[in-house]
Amino acid sequence: MISENLKKVEEEIAETCLKTSRNRSEIKLIAVSKTQSAGAINQILECGIKNLGENKAQELRDKSEIILGDFFWHFIGHLQTNKVKYVIKAADFIHAVDSEKLASEINARAAQINKIQNVLLEIKTSAEESKHGLRTEDEIYKLVEHCNNSSNLKLIGLMTMAPFTDDEKIIRQSFVSLRLLKEKINQRGMHLTELSMGMTNDFKIAIQEGSTMLRIGTALFGERNYK
Ligand SMILES: *Cc1c(COP(=O)(O)O)cnc(C)c1O
Repeated sequence: MISENLKKVEEEIAETCLKTSRNRSEIKLIAVSKTQSAGAINQILECGIKNLGENKAQELRDKSEIILGDFFWHFIGHLQTNKVKYVIKAADFIHAVDSEKLASEINARAAQINKIQNVLLEIKTSAEESKHGLRTEDEIYKLVEHCNNSSNLKLIGLMTMAPFTDDEKIIRQSFVSLRLLKEKINQRGMHLTELSMGMTNDFKIAIQEGSTMLRIGTALFGERNYK
């Protein structure tokens, strides 16, 4: 089933890339493996997946000890400062940095193990109350600057979650605002390359609006079973 799901998702990505004149090779497909068993994850790795995403710190730590191979781990969830220690070794990318305190802790822990940590800033692009992420441009520019001045952080891009809605216009708006924000930051001399946006229900819109990192779980593994 997983290999068929992956094939279908890849077809949809390819079709959307074709329609929007985008190159498939500039988009990473992150298989969001939270709650999934090692068996299921190994299965998708055998199909050629090169990126896995987890959103719970201890879950990433535990899985990274038993699931091995030639692929990258992405920590995509909200990260509490006191849990950085669990992910710092395994996470090749940390997607949802949203405070100086968190950035400083990541930088310090990365320095201890001599690692340059790839990070993205989580931006709140909708009015939905439950979402984490930076809101004002002031906050955003301050944190960009802070990351720049941190020797063991490499700020590579921005991440967002679209609001939970069927309204395509509202979803698109959220992705467009992330793309424009990246351009604005780059006009100030940064070289951000990544836009982490697009999940099972909205990844085609995300590709149309410039996503370089799709975070897809359900469409690949099926409905999650939270026990
Ligand atoms: C779970 C999760 C996803 C994947 O969601 P699906 O709808 O299953 O594709 C993407 N991003 C984040 C941050 C998540 O927590």
